[in-house]
Amino acid sequence: MILDKEQLRAKLDKVIWNIEEARIAVSEYHIVKLVTIAKYTEVENIATLYELGQRAFGENQVQQLKERMTALDEFPLEWHMIGTLQKNKINNLIDLRPSLMQSLDGMDLAEALNKKLEAKNSKMNCLLQINSAKEKSKSGVSSEEAFDIYQQVKENCPNIDLKGVMTIGAHTNDSKLIQKSFETTHSIYEKLEKEGATICSMGMSSDYTLAIKCGSNLIRVGSALFK
Ligand SMILES: *Cc1c(COP(=O)(O)O)cnc(C)c1O
Repeated sequence: MILDKEQLRAKLDKVIWNIEEARIAVSEYHIVKLVTIAKYTEVENIATLYELGQRAFGENQVQQLKERMTALDEFPLEWHMIGTLQKNKINNLIDLRPSLMQSLDGMDLAEALNKKLEAKNSKMNCLLQINSAKEKSKSGVSSEEAFDIYQQVKENCPNIDLKGVMTIGAHTNDSKLIQKSFETTHSIYEKLEKEGATICSMGMSSDYTLAIKCGSNLIRVGSALFK
């Protein structure tokens, strides 16, 4: 569904208002970045959001990321990869030079990605994805292993610039459980801040205000803007 500028402005204003309210509850110095997840929506809506001032966009598939980056090449947008990365798509992703790859989900992928980055004499900013709700359907490292794996990636993968962590909140209506998955991830992030981590990516359309109250400083919002 292609939305007109006023419809999108109203939705964006609502999200920004909610972000403001949640972040001020944490601290007036707590800054939160909004990354618009465009995977469900038409490229026209991305262009309209750009006109409204939004700059950071995310996709969960390399092919779609490529199509959109190409279609919107004239705009100075920042692109994030947020979906599971198949090994046979690594080279394609490197060539797209995303601002941030948020879904580095294990040592295996880190080593494969590092090797290909080395071969292309390139670097990539990444977040380590944590499966904080321990859900089989989700990728990511376990919260118990996250700290050690983060160190291992830093030591063994010099072409990967780790910037922090990403998680998807527990898939449930029980806000206590969602909160727990955010708190678990944020406590790992706090330890990693001493290692230079600056990004704690948590929160989607249904749970971003809760995520911000748990310390998130980057939220990934899709359907709240387009439905
Ligand atoms: C799709 C997706 C989002 C956005 O989801 P909404 O509920 O539409 O806001 C955020 N993060 C990831 C990893 C996603 O795949």
